[in-house]
Amino acid sequence: MQLVLLGAPGSGKGTLAADLKNIYDIPHISTGDIFRRNISNKTELGLKADAYISKGQLVPDDITINMVADRLSEPDCSEGFLLDGFPRTIPQADALNDIMKKLGRSLTAVIDVTISDELVLKRLTNRRVCSNCGLSYNLISMPPKQDGICDKCSGKIIQRKDDSEDTIKKRLETYHKQTQPLVDYYRDIGLIFDVSNEGKPEEAVNKVRKYFE
Ligand code: ADP
Ligand code: ZN
Repeated sequence: MQLVLLGAPGSGKGTLAADLKNIYDIPHISTGDIFRRNISNKTELGLKADAYISKGQLVPDDITINMVADRLSEPDCSEGFLLDGFPRTIPQADALNDIMKKLGRSLTAVIDVTISDELVLKRLTNRRVCSNCGLSYNLISMPPKQDGICDKCSGKIIQRKDDSEDTIKKRLETYHKQTQPLVDYYRDIGLIFDVSNEGKPEEAVNKVRKYFE
């Protein structure tokens, strides 16, 4: 199963991905997580990426595409994968086609997670993440059992730097301009499955499960 998750920042892509990864037993490849790991390890890639991410802009295509091509050629992806946050531009989608061709594979489906901008703003300002395992929480709808501590790994729970209101608005703008055109790109070739994610997280998971049954 080769899956792509599309959706605005704060659409709940990451939470859905964490469930799908377990259900279908495929690696969850989040470009945002890879960038954040590189930023906290202060790698060369991290330093470059941080300059864009902190402003709510996309990391340039060449950097991102090379990073994903490398990741998808690793052995754990040979049975399938779940891409979360890639592609985000038309050139990235074209590059993914080339990567898949080279690997002799094709995409199974592109899941488009939909949500209103108002709800995104509300969710993201209340979002907190585990600094260790990346699990997402929401101060209102999904708080950790113990204040500031991850339920799963006991890591420290933090607010992402790019989850400030101004940067969220900028990310939404970037999404509508650069990523939303991909929905039509994939709809035209019959790969899109739309999932509204304005309710509880498990509702979206169940819709995806049914779709693949
Ligand atoms: P969200 O979907 O909540 O914006 P992500 O964790 O997917 O968060 O991404 C965080 C940031 O990392 C993005 O705002 C962007 O700057 C950068 N990024 C992630 N994926 C890509 C990509 N495919 N191309 C360019 N930049 C990316
Ligand atoms: Zn954790």
